Amino acid sequence: DPKDHPDWEVAQDAESRMKTIYKLGDEMGLEERELLPYGHYMGKIDYRSVLKRLADKPNGKFVNVTAINPTPLGEGKSTTTIGLVQGLGRRGKKASAAIRQPSGGPTMGVKGSAAGGGRSQCIPLTPFSLGFTGDINAIMNAHNLAMTALTARMQHERNYSDEKLLKLSGMPRLDVDPTRISMGWVIDYCAQALRNIVIGMDGVNGAQDGYMMRSKFDIAVSSEVMAILAVSKDLKDLRERMGKIIMCYDKFGKPLTTKDFEVDGAMTAWLVDAVNPNLIQTLEGQPVIVHAGPFANIAIGQSSIIADQVGLKLSDYHVTESGFGADIGYEKFWNLKCHYSGLTPDASVVVATVRALKCHGGAPMPVPGKKLPEAYTTENVEWVEKGCANLLHHVNIVKKSGVSPVVCINAFVTDTPNEIRKIRELCEAAGARVAVSKHWEYGGEGALELADAVMDACNDKTTFTPLYDWSMPMRQRIEKVATEVYGADGVDYSFEAKARLESIENDTELSKLGLCMVKTHLSLSDDPTLKGVPKGWRLKVRDVLTFGGAGFVVPVAGSISLMPGTGSNPSFRRIDVDTDTGRVEGLF
Ligand code: ADP
Repeated sequence: DPKDHPDWEVAQDAESRMKTIYKLGDEMGLEERELLPYGHYMGKIDYRSVLKRLADKPNGKFVNVTAINPTPLGEGKSTTTIGLVQGLGRRGKKASAAIRQPSGGPTMGVKGSAAGGGRSQCIPLTPFSLGFTGDINAIMNAHNLAMTALTARMQHERNYSDEKLLKLSGMPRLDVDPTRISMGWVIDYCAQALRNIVIGMDGVNGAQDGYMMRSKFDIAVSSEVMAILAVSKDLKDLRERMGKIIMCYDKFGKPLTTKDFEVDGAMTAWLVDAVNPNLIQTLEGQPVIVHAGPFANIAIGQSSIIADQVGLKLSDYHVTESGFGADIGYEKFWNLKCHYSGLTPDASVVVATVRALKCHGGAPMPVPGKKLPEAYTTENVEWVEKGCANLLHHVNIVKKSGVSPVVCINAFVTDTPNEIRKIRELCEAAGARVAVSKHWEYGGEGALELADAVMDACNDKTTFTPLYDWSMPMRQRIEKVATEVYGADGVDYSFEAKARLESIENDTELSKLGLCMVKTHLSLSDDPTLKGVPKGWRLKVRDVLTFGGAGFVVPVAGSISLMPGTGSNPSFRRIDVDTDTGRVEGLF
């Protein structure tokens, strides 16, 4: 019973009965050679073979899972994605999930490993949480190889004359402007001390110890290489994108790419296995495809296009998760990922919890690692009712895209009937389907109402339309997202952001890129402390990154950083190993 046991104990109990990867692949409809096993219970899928073999087979129904603005604890989107697949399975449907590979930052920090929770998890939990089949490592290696190329080149260009440089390298001088390096290094932890660093200080080797300059680390999952993995349709597409990453600018203001540094081929070499999506199972034995990374606030944060393409060919219902709330995760799914994939959803689930609604209604913000305030375990219909404004805002974002929303109340054992009744009443009045789902407590049996509501919503006619045309100038697009999705009055740009956006708008190539916002997930606004539906505010864009390979411009709003921090009570303090069995304890 998940009420009496932490997630990792529930997972380990189920792991003693889980299917082998061969059985899972066979039941899913993979041919033997399409399954690339990684041990007995995990594997990769040869997507190329599957998509070629099933090219003429119609796709299954495509369901997205999004949410309201969460608390820092998470509101159960991954849990609901798995629960819904289990519920659809109980209704006799062939269903699959696509979720993102956990990052070491949250796994060791406060949020846990994103495997779901209670009786709606994917297993085996330990390898899934700790490195899995190595995709994030491959991404880090590819990304940091580019930085190695850049920093070595800068040292050589400083130390050698033009003639010697050309003789040694066969490559003309690139003339990097050391004050305009946009790329940093990546590591898969939340390490705030690496946000602003100095590298290349001379040691015993003097001028051979690098070029001294300011640099930075971002979390690996926010790397452009991860974004490329998420949006690529196949290896060929990925290879082309890999050469277009803008690493820095030369002294004349021209962007220099991974292709200019001749590192794009080797970067792709790191990713030949990572491009194949990963396969594991739900606690009830259905396929879970895991590919690409989390963090829809500071990255695209979507499961990959390749994972969805495979799931849609092999299932009646394929459920894909977009990170955080509909303001950022679903908006990027709607206007970016679907643009690239050409796929359109048949329905979207908006996950809400009484906990997050209370927080939006006025209850004190829960602090990760600390005991939940009593406000969250005793009935308070008034706070829930007030908080529903945030939920309805997200429901309207989904409706605006032309897709039917299904509100899923992800039930906690502390929710009261009066609180649930109020949410139902307000959502139904707003014309949204609502299901109370107890998948955390009961698995698929607890998700039947949700499964039925989703199947019903999939029969609705959709009119999926993008929010803007990609020919629209970038600032107009940002303003459209800010006002029509976030509810801002307008957008203010820093001096640097304005200058960058102007030069993007005036460039024939860059002006055709997509838009991927970076904004806090904790509020509809760019201020994480503003709850509910903030009014009378303007979005502050302070920086703009250009992801030439992933194909989008990344405006950074508010004070959010691409390197999250580790707090004072991280979960690594509670993770350990039973040395008799080798079992890892304390993951969630
Ligand atoms: P998200 O995907 O929205 O970030 P998760 O699915 O990872 O959220 O869930 C966050 C945490 O909340 C997990 O530790 C999970 O076990 C827990 N959780 C989710 N749903 C419930 C529930 N209904 N009751 C109790 N705990 C839950």
